[in-house]
Amino acid sequence: MSMDLSISRHWRLRSPLYRLEGARCKACGRVHFPPKKACPYCGSREVETVELPKRGRLISYTIVYAVPEGAREYSPVYVGLVDLGVTKVVAELTDVTDTSKLKRGLEVEAVLRRTRVDGEAGLIYYALKFRPSMGVPDV
Ligand SMILES: [Zn+2]
Repeated sequence: MSMDLSISRHWRLRSPLYRLEGARCKACGRVHFPPKKACPYCGSREVETVELPKRGRLISYTIVYAVPEGAREYSPVYVGLVDLGVTKVVAELTDVTDTSKLKRGLEVEAVLRRTRVDGEAGLIYYALKFRPSMGVPDV
């Protein structure tokens, strides 16, 4: 993938990535993330953008040790399946200091964090990640 595509892709996805937007199907009512132009459940193209809750409960997680160039300083990466109530999302977990606390049902909240730095293009990429809930809204 060329750098131009990468930058434009990130630009196109900035709203879903930064604001945690999903899409609600007007036909069946289901919410999905990331948003698509058609409902993956019933096929309807009548979908609307909705902002998703910033808090949820951890269902499960995995640890990724093989991370791409440019993100090695963040290794290992914790990837969680988070139940937001209206839908489930797969997202990176951050501020993980003790993996024994990563249990099913743990309350997590979305925070905006740096994901990688592209030194050549001078870009710093951000995305929402989930951290164990501190009880104080951050976003
Ligand atoms: Zn649908």
